[in-house]
Amino acid sequence: MAVLTINKYGNPILREKTEPVEKITNKELDLIDNMIETMIKAEAIGLAANQIGIPKSIAVVNFSFFNEQLHPQALLNIELIDSKGSLIFEEGCLSIPGIKEDVERSEFIKISYMDVFGETKTLECEGLLSRVILHELDHLQGILFVDRLPPLKRKLLSSKLKKIKKGIKIT
Ligand code: ZN
Repeated sequence: MAVLTINKYGNPILREKTEPVEKITNKELDLIDNMIETMIKAEAIGLAANQIGIPKSIAVVNFSFFNEQLHPQALLNIELIDSKGSLIFEEGCLSIPGIKEDVERSEFIKISYMDVFGETKTLECEGLLSRVILHELDHLQGILFVDRLPPLKRKLLSSKLKKIKKGIKIT
């Protein structure tokens, strides 16, 4: 297993819509192992494949953050089936270090995804887990959480975003 480099804001791959995974081979399984290790090392709850430079529809979510009995898991080809309600909560992103902002997202969601065995599953969840999955689903479609902020808020962040783009660390 290996810890991978996380692409930062300004890297064009973060704006790419990822391709669905057709078949799970050892290559995908290795990638998933490395993504899980990278997510855990970064103390994050989720990570999308394009964040580490692979334009495939793969996200990993650390379910153990929500329930100690659960393990980090890969969700492939996520599709949003249903969403309800709305919640505003602070969000951050490994690709946009140093910025945390309130984002409005659906409170309840139902998704379908493919697991590492190639089986299609559905998952209904709420609150923070919904938020994490929607954040990763956005990544896989080339959308970043700052895109979901009101225009004025985005304007206020533009100089910070420019710094991240240039590789300058912001505090
Ligand atoms: Zn993110």
